[in-house]
Order: sequence, then C-alpha cells, then structure tokens
Amino acid sequence: MKKPVPVIAIDGTAASGKGTMARRLATHLDYAYLDTGLLYRRVAYTLFEKGLPFEEADAALQAARTLDATKLDDPALRGPEAGRGSSIVAAMPTVRLALYDFQREFPAKSGKPGAILDGRDIGTVIFPEAILKFYVDADQAERARRRHKELLGQGLDVFYEKVLEDMKIRDARDAGRPDAPMKAAPDAIHIDTTHMGPDEVFQEALKYIQDR
Ligand code: C5P
Repeated sequence: MKKPVPVIAIDGTAASGKGTMARRLATHLDYAYLDTGLLYRRVAYTLFEKGLPFEEADAALQAARTLDATKLDDPALRGPEAGRGSSIVAAMPTVRLALYDFQREFPAKSGKPGAILDGRDIGTVIFPEAILKFYVDADQAERARRRHKELLGQGLDVFYEKVLEDMKIRDARDAGRPDAPMKAAPDAIHIDTTHMGPDEVFQEALKYIQDR
C-alpha cells in the first residue's frame, strides 16, 4: 500500500490569520495547499449568481456536486456575499458530504510530499489523522478590523460596525451548527494571533513543525 501523504490541519475563526499562515507554511515546506473555505464560498456564490437565496438547499447541493475546483481563484469569492452565504450553505450536511471526497483526495492527488488544508473541521472531521493540527484564533474585534481593512483594500465601501456584526453572526453559525461545527480538535495546538503579525505567526507554527 502507498504511504499516506502527511497532512497538516489548520482550523480556526474567520480572519484569524490561518490562511496566511497556511499559505506560508505550504510554500516553505513545498506542500500543497487547499483553502477549504473557498469550496463553501464557491457554492454560496453560485447561488448568488443565480439570484437564489442561500437557504435554497437543493440548489446548494447541486452547486456542491458540480463544483469546479479549478475555478476557486475568482476574486468575487473573497467578497462579502460569498462570505455571508458560505456559512449558511456550510451548515447543510448534504453540502458538506458532497465536498468531503474532494478534500480527502486532495493530498494524494496533489503530487506534493505533503498537504496543508485550512478550514473549520479539518482536524476534527476531514483529517482526524493529520500529523499536526493547529487552531488559530484572535479577538473578534481584531478579526473584524482585519477583515474591514481587507474589504476596503478591495475597494468596497463598508463600515467597520457592519463587518463586526457579520462576523458575530458567522462565528455563531459556524460554532453552533450540529454538523462539523468549528472547534479545535482535542490534540490541536492553539495559536492566538491577536497581538501577532504574520511573520511571528509563521515562525511560531514553524517551531512546532520542526519540533515534531
Ligand atoms: O475560511 P473562510 O472564512 O473563507 O470560510 C468561509 C465559510 O465556509 C466559513 O464561515 C464556514 O462557514 C465555512 N467553512 C466550513 N468548513 C470549512 C471551511 C469553511 O464550514 N472547512
């Protein structure tokens, strides 16, 4: 039997810095990287493009089943509509199941010596056998500030208060859903990035990888 490709699981809250940390580690280690949030964002944005409400479960399942994973680089997926809708479609067990195989198969198909996946349930549901698990978090107000800055950088005219409000709703929905809620795996290493910059976060994570 072929040896399984080692996986590093990075879960955590929105705008906690987990994506930046994951990307940098993947580049450093020459591992493949999958931002699994983009899968849920893609499903939500497909509904948005069709003018359908995010709660439309049949259409969401159809979008998940027919998702083209080569089309995850659309900048619109980073926008507020996809962000808001993603946590609604992500609460649907049918949608999660439809996206399961793609995530499980990603490391082996990547052709790389290892893979890093980031999301909400990577260490708990998708890769409970991951060789290393991180749970990244930061204060909600700080995360909202980061997301606000990012949206302004995209040229979007949004108020901080609205970003914070959306973040509260999304956090509660992600942590409160019955199927694969956002939570740290019991064996996850916790990193609180509230007072850390991206370089510090990267170095901290790298230390754990090297000490392994
Ligand atoms: O990570 P990001 O903020 O882009 O994820 C968007 C949404 O997708 C999350 O708020 C969450 O509802 C959902 N998600 C998930 N499981 C994952 C990754 C993302 O439920 N593994």
